[in-house]
Amino acid sequence: MNKYSETIINSYTGYFNYLKNEILYPSWHNYFYWLLALSLLVWLLEVIFPWRKEQAIFRKDFWLDGFYMFFNFFLFSLIVFNAISNVAVDFFNQFIALFGGSNVVAFHIQQWPVWSQYLLMFILADFIQWNIHRMLHKSKYLWEFHKVHHSVQQMGFAAHLRFHWMETVIYKTIQYIPLAMLGFGIQDFFIIHIIATAIGHLNHANIKLTYGPLKYVLNNPVMHLWHHARKLPQNRYGVNFGLSLSIWDYLFKTAYIPNENGYEPLGFDDVEKFPNTFIQQALYPISKEKKKKNPKF
Ligand SMILES: [Zn+2]
Ligand SMILES: [Zn+2]
Repeated sequence: MNKYSETIINSYTGYFNYLKNEILYPSWHNYFYWLLALSLLVWLLEVIFPWRKEQAIFRKDFWLDGFYMFFNFFLFSLIVFNAISNVAVDFFNQFIALFGGSNVVAFHIQQWPVWSQYLLMFILADFIQWNIHRMLHKSKYLWEFHKVHHSVQQMGFAAHLRFHWMETVIYKTIQYIPLAMLGFGIQDFFIIHIIATAIGHLNHANIKLTYGPLKYVLNNPVMHLWHHARKLPQNRYGVNFGLSLSIWDYLFKTAYIPNENGYEPLGFDDVEKFPNTFIQQALYPISKEKKKKNPKF
């Protein structure tokens, strides 16, 4: 059997066993239960301290977004991404080995204290993601995929993981290359991932939070609601692109928070016509391409 198909098969069986173990054996190092616990906690905060008081607890698209959460966090990895990315990582590592190992850059991050590696990794990954997110808005082609995330009309925590699976491919691929080239010593991204998930859940929650002066560093629900605003300021393709950190938007002048009332209409022009099921949304960017090429379709 060739090396790459072996990697693919191992990825599938390995991931399947991993997912089974995650569900069967709760532990502190368990994505499944952390996601569940964080979701319940932020949802509970929404119920006790709602920002838009008349918004239903089971808001519009609550279950659809709940499904997205499970699909994007677990199933998509199981079905395709894990297998593809393991092959890509094998391939990439062989490629950088040609240039003398994984540490292409001159400074030696592996020798730093672990906490500082985590911190640098978190900040760097967030900055790369900020740039990718901007690109998803600027490129007409990528925007069609990103529209799934922006099609939410009533905001709540679960909207955080409502996005087209293609975004996972784009984010992970672009992010992996510079981070792998820096040669981080840490293998375990669990803490970073959980912190980013908690901040992302809060950013989409129906809770009015700005974290006081920390708002210039941390993204927050008030700032991110404006990212989802239906009407943009003139000549802008988007505002508030931050994921976990807001600092990039302040540094690069893309921050925009005209008021904090929480009632700005969300979405984009004609969002009412956007498909409202998971399958239709997954196919939307492709069907749109087809229509452009053949208007009679
Ligand atoms: Zn966006
Ligand atoms: Zn969002």
